Amino acid sequence: MKNGKIRTRTYILALLVIFLPVLANLYSPLLMVEGIKIGIITLSALVFGVWLILSLFLGRSISCGYTCPYGALQEILGRYTNKKPKSKKASQIRYPFFVLFLIIVSYSILKIGGLKGVNLFASNGNPKLVILIPLFILLIGILSLIFGNRAFCKYLCPQGVFLTIGTKLGRKIKIPSLHLKNNHNCSNCELCNKSCPMGLDVNYMVKNDKMENLNCILCGECIENCPKNVINYSFSIKD
Ligand code: SF4
Ligand code: SF4
Repeated sequence: MKNGKIRTRTYILALLVIFLPVLANLYSPLLMVEGIKIGIITLSALVFGVWLILSLFLGRSISCGYTCPYGALQEILGRYTNKKPKSKKASQIRYPFFVLFLIIVSYSILKIGGLKGVNLFASNGNPKLVILIPLFILLIGILSLIFGNRAFCKYLCPQGVFLTIGTKLGRKIKIPSLHLKNNHNCSNCELCNKSCPMGLDVNYMVKNDKMENLNCILCGECIENCPKNVINYSFSIKD
């Protein structure tokens, strides 16, 4: 049963990578910004809005863990190299990136005097993006090969910071949300650490009963790989 679930997620990731040429625009932060620059909400901005609302209840699970083709590409590559992005300090770099992203978006909206409307495919075919999106795919692939699985997600992704804020907000306003639950019968085998695509020390989280982590994408790999069923999902109001 457990192996079946692991396989299902692997198939989902593989499908996301296969359909990356089609999905790249749909989930592209570049397309979102290019649309905003001309005052238009594009499909990728809409998808991101849905992710943000879902993050209140489901954290980064659906967005980062199960539907982002860029994350899937990094995870598939990361599985081959078996490298993990372990540096906690380096993961702080994403905050200045997030601020820069906010400044660009806010400046663009102010400059054109506010958003003008919705045109889902407004920036498709933009010659700049035809070059930028393949370059972006190449960059995240190289980063994950050099610095480990999901290195871009952990160290740079501004959308991930937005979704973490959404997750925290959900907890703050006390609505039921998805999180990890600790069953306290750990044998310290560290299989959870080996399986975590974000390079988290899950064994430490369990031993210290600190199951919240800003970099956790609630992918469930630690749950499925733990032989003692120590970790589970829980959907409830978090204290
Ligand atoms: S895989 Fe399970 S038993 Fe092994 S260290 Fe992690 S939580 Fe503990
Ligand atoms: S701690 Fe578990 S659920 Fe969170 S990212 Fe790591 S493997 Fe996925």
